Amino acid sequence: MTPEPRTAPLLPSYGSGTLAELGASILAALGGSDANPLGLPASRKVCLLVVDGLGWELLRDHPAAAPFLNELAMNSQPLAAGFPATTVTSLTSLGTGRPPGQHGVLGYQVAIPGEHKLLNGLRWDDRIDPARWQPRPTIYERAEAAGVASYHVAPRAFRTSGLTRAAFRGARYWPADSMGALAGEAGIALREADEVLVTAYHGDLDGTGHGHGVGSDAWYYQLAHVDKLAEQLAGALPSDTALYVTADHGMVDVPAEDRVDVDNTPDLQAGVSLLGGEPRARHVYARPGAAADVLAAWREVLGPRAWVLSREDAIKENWFGPVDPDMIPRIGDVVAAPAGNWAIVATETEPRESALTGMHGSLVSSDQLIPLLTLSTG
Ligand SMILES: [Zn+2]
Repeated sequence: MTPEPRTAPLLPSYGSGTLAELGASILAALGGSDANPLGLPASRKVCLLVVDGLGWELLRDHPAAAPFLNELAMNSQPLAAGFPATTVTSLTSLGTGRPPGQHGVLGYQVAIPGEHKLLNGLRWDDRIDPARWQPRPTIYERAEAAGVASYHVAPRAFRTSGLTRAAFRGARYWPADSMGALAGEAGIALREADEVLVTAYHGDLDGTGHGHGVGSDAWYYQLAHVDKLAEQLAGALPSDTALYVTADHGMVDVPAEDRVDVDNTPDLQAGVSLLGGEPRARHVYARPGAAADVLAAWREVLGPRAWVLSREDAIKENWFGPVDPDMIPRIGDVVAAPAGNWAIVATETEPRESALTGMHGSLVSSDQLIPLLTLSTG
């Protein structure tokens, strides 16, 4: 009955090639656990540079802007971000070494079970304890327990955010508000202990892509700055250090005419209690008894251009990795992901997000594939 999407979704290879395995493998490389699914070599010091929004395809498409990173990319394979391909979910997968279905940070906006309310993972909510919402130990807590010092170098503004406490708790927070500070402080942190894990987070490439588009001069120039940042960080490493460069998701530019507006489409509103997620990865929460009708309506309106699944089928198809029972109610009754470069916006309830040029979240290579670049000092 329902037309099948013309293409198959790119399902993250949970257990073997996502950000969760990178987090777990880094911990193992430092001697903090046994499971090392990516087979990373043992190292006394690890520096992890996370560049928000640096998709694998975007990086490979711009060798002239990013010669240093592209040289490292030559002998490397991409990872998948996980679903949704969004910052809050991906950083928590990396920081816990667990897939989204286990750490429970399942999207940009997810329903708080029992309340008629969404939790925005970037803005958070004072009434929600991040350590209860995301109960898994982080790799930083586990590293510290194993005698490995851990540091998180990132902008001062994120120091006390809910996301920082969900994804990076256990790491000592070192504020760095510029690219020079990021490379410099990370280099110092790596010398603070004999066995150390230092994560450096850069967010401006993502912001530039959202605002100007990944096809813009602004994004291209920012990428060149990121390339320089990575080169400087590589130059600041002490001996016996492994540097890993990765990202939380890629991005696509969504043309203004390629947006379905839920706020102007009554058929997409019928029976819907809360619209969660974001334009390229939607959690749709139905009123009691309306889930089947919402599923049918979303399939009818969006047609083969989107993958639209029931909560049960999204879990069965492994969109989130293995899902803990506690986390199931956080997933939309209906989950929808665009199969191309288009978006499901909500211009009235989400005016800011709906106006962005660059977007991410879906199960396509542009959003999902991210680099894992490696460099080691002797
Ligand atoms: Zn973003």
